[in-house]
Amino acid sequence: LLSLETATVRFGGRAVLDGVGLAVAEHEIVCVLGPSGSGKSTLLRAVAGLQPLDAGRVLLDGRDQAAVPVHRREVGLMFQDHQLFPQRDVAGNVGFGLRMHGTAKDERVARVAELLDLVGLPGAGGRSVAALSGGEQQRVALARALAPRPRLLMLDEPLGQLDRTLRERLVVELRELFGRLGTTVLAVTHDQGEAFALADRVVVMRDGRIAQSGTPLEVWQRPADAFVARFLGFEN
Ligand code: ATP
Ligand code: MG
Repeated sequence: LLSLETATVRFGGRAVLDGVGLAVAEHEIVCVLGPSGSGKSTLLRAVAGLQPLDAGRVLLDGRDQAAVPVHRREVGLMFQDHQLFPQRDVAGNVGFGLRMHGTAKDERVARVAELLDLVGLPGAGGRSVAALSGGEQQRVALARALAPRPRLLMLDEPLGQLDRTLRERLVVELRELFGRLGTTVLAVTHDQGEAFALADRVVVMRDGRIAQSGTPLEVWQRPADAFVARFLGFEN
């Protein structure tokens, strides 16, 4: 579905994405792991079209996305810092993409209610997002990204601000949901437990490059190098 070919982004002469090659198959769930500053968010932004490439290509279904405007790309992105619409209520945020797609009101209302149940905010549709806690806002952002059922769903630290109990529950529910809907997912996290529980394949990034890509078991049993081993918490 998605492929990146030698994708490169430079800021002030420094390559933040350094010739990244990555392919994500239809229905696959890929989790990108890596330390802060390794280029994870930049990678997602590049696929969404929010960050132009200095070199390389992003292809969806084999089609070069360079000339495709952001709103025409069949991808959804949940930002690391949510970016909810403060002037809209919870339902207005979650249903926003559906409105844009012209989904009928009845279906929109039903889908919003279903998603709010899923993320553990049943009946919260009428609440103001400005009055929600950080974790609650994160759950609204997650529901909003899921709502239009994009072909490729990209999540940047989707569960970052939630407590452990909720995270563990949501990881299981999300995996089940993605499987049921056949959603292809590219998610960023720095929590390896989350990545290993959610992903079919784990990609470890270091300094704008892919240090390793493999199934959770492969990466766990055979880290590609000392960096990956250290990152996973092994002593050597
Ligand atoms: P984190 O885990 O902290 O979210 P990340 O892996 O998502 O980190 P990125 O946000 O992709 O990292 O940033 C990678 C590097 O690029 C960082 O060193 C960051 O400072 C730099 N960077 C990102 N955006 C810009 C920008 N617009 N201008 C200059 N430098 C940037
Ligand atoms: Mg980031």
